[in-house]
Amino acid sequence: MLKDTEKKCDICGSKFENSDKLDQHKESHKEKNSTGRPKVSQSSRYKVTGIAAAAAVIIVLMVYFSDTPSVPTGDIQGVECDPSEGTVFHVHAHLDMIVDSKQVTIPAGIGIKQNQCLYWLHTHDTSGVIHIESPTQSKFTLGQFIQVWDSTPGISPTFEELTHGDKNLKVFVNGTEVNDSYDAIPLSAHDEIVLVSGDVPPSIPSSYEFGGL
Ligand SMILES: [Zn+2]
Ligand SMILES: [Zn+2]
Repeated sequence: MLKDTEKKCDICGSKFENSDKLDQHKESHKEKNSTGRPKVSQSSRYKVTGIAAAAAVIIVLMVYFSDTPSVPTGDIQGVECDPSEGTVFHVHAHLDMIVDSKQVTIPAGIGIKQNQCLYWLHTHDTSGVIHIESPTQSKFTLGQFIQVWDSTPGISPTFEELTHGDKNLKVFVNGTEVNDSYDAIPLSAHDEIVLVSGDVPPSIPSSYEFGGL
């Protein structure tokens, strides 16, 4: 009886003449199991495919949204408005404006949004000193400064008002007339920039006493 039990398949209960045939029979159970396995791995392959598809969708969305301006930074031609002043790059240029042969005053607070932020280009007082303060070493232009000026809420006078909308201002940089557009005129450390509307005075300032700035 014991031998009979040994030749009985413990999986399906089939009886066999000898252990060889029983072993052979047991192999068929293993094969069934192994044919069952691919089904499991197939379904897990679907899962992997699903995860990959979901990841692809997320990546596509991320790329899509990174292309779209997400937060309105309010930057002006690359000049951003930060809650505090940039300290990495801090240089100064000076601006004089002569309209109809008279020196006019550059307003304080150009590029400063009260209790909000400071553009990287701004004026703290009416001296004409342009503060260039940004978190990175960068090149800025006169065009950007004028844009910032006219984008400063509540600034008075605006650039247009001060120049009576004159589109043909003469520009002098360190005493030399420059015919480039405002966007092509760099603001470099200790530059003396003079904008003239109307008659050009006999002498144009070529430098400015920056003191400790
Ligand atoms: Zn400043
Ligand atoms: Zn400064």
